[in-house]
Amino acid sequence: MSITPLMPVYPRCDVRPVRGEGCYLIGERGERYLDFASGIAVNLLGHGHPTLVKAIADQAATLMHVSNLYGSPQGEAFAQRLVDNTFADTVFFTNSGAEAVECAIKTARRFHYADGNPHKHKIISFDNAFHGRTLGTISATSQPKMRDGFEPLLPGFTVVPFNDLEAAAAQVDDNTAGFLLEPVQGEGGVTPATKEFLTGLRKLCDEKGLLLILDEVQCGYARTGTFFAHEQYGITPDIMAVAKGIGGGFPMGACLATENAAKGMVFGTHGSTYGGNPLAMAVGSAVLDEVLADGFLEGVKAKGARLRSALEQLIPNHDGLFEDVRGMGLMLGLKMKDSADARAFVGHLRDNHGLLTVSAGQNVVRILPPLVIEDSHIAECIEKLSAGARDFAAKAA
Ligand SMILES: *Cc1c(COP(=O)(O)O)cnc(C)c1O
Repeated sequence: MSITPLMPVYPRCDVRPVRGEGCYLIGERGERYLDFASGIAVNLLGHGHPTLVKAIADQAATLMHVSNLYGSPQGEAFAQRLVDNTFADTVFFTNSGAEAVECAIKTARRFHYADGNPHKHKIISFDNAFHGRTLGTISATSQPKMRDGFEPLLPGFTVVPFNDLEAAAAQVDDNTAGFLLEPVQGEGGVTPATKEFLTGLRKLCDEKGLLLILDEVQCGYARTGTFFAHEQYGITPDIMAVAKGIGGGFPMGACLATENAAKGMVFGTHGSTYGGNPLAMAVGSAVLDEVLADGFLEGVKAKGARLRSALEQLIPNHDGLFEDVRGMGLMLGLKMKDSADARAFVGHLRDNHGLLTVSAGQNVVRILPPLVIEDSHIAECIEKLSAGARDFAAKAA
């Protein structure tokens, strides 16, 4: 038998973390890494944050799980806080991002069903999108590496080019339910929607009775410097999927919706055994305390601007390697020139300089630090990047 006990679906690297301390990970051999990957935009408070650790320990000792057959004082309180701080009127809690997107798709289809238009089931999504790995969410992507061998997928999805309003408008027909997109594409290459595109989609939705579904699983929860990225576009969605940062490392997600968009989601239409259990709600509430604390979002914005300008200053010194810096807040991408491979550079930084980043589509190095970084971490990241760029280029030459 040669298959590994862990199903071999990940090309795992040699970093084997066993402990985390703030913005650092410590490997099996005691080696330290500056963690500017954050579990892919998850650990927004870094590792071992005392408030989060205490919230988990206290709630685990008090009440970890009960079924959704019972009333949920913890869930009501946390949902109310999300409602108070967003466009939404109602929240469904999930255990992951893909489940949050699934709930968003179901909510959209069910809206049109409840509205007397059950034929309006088609979702228009976009090239380079990533919405998760369930059969429903891979149906909303055009990427062969996620779809091949799993077909037939869910019918009712059309994928068009991102940031192309005309192409999106051209696909709208009588069966269309709405649009599904990430305001800032993460896996696809840290590509923000243009203002014209996102406001244009909102306008189309308003004119044609469609739903705007945002996937803020990666770009949401303070990552871009506002609580949610769409706030910077001056629009609101009808439905939004949230996960990653919401639990700061605890597996949870949420689907948020307006009262109107959620009108089909009545008793018995959806459910989850673990979703919104007391432990998750305690964690979510502790993370939210930090995110909504005075100055937190402003801090992310300011740190994002400082990191970005430091990255931009790197470019002229290594212009054979880097093309540009993209992204928003602390969701940044360093686009490499065609002659250099982002995946190889990420590996080089990790193995030779103790800096963790993540590669993304379009030959981009994703830089996703914990949102609690300090200036010293930014300086250390730039030092490592700069040294890494120098010997990476020398190695290639
Ligand atoms: C990570 C991600 C998902 C999927 O989340 P999982 O928790 O892995 O299911 C969905 N959408 C976006 C934008 C993501 O970045």
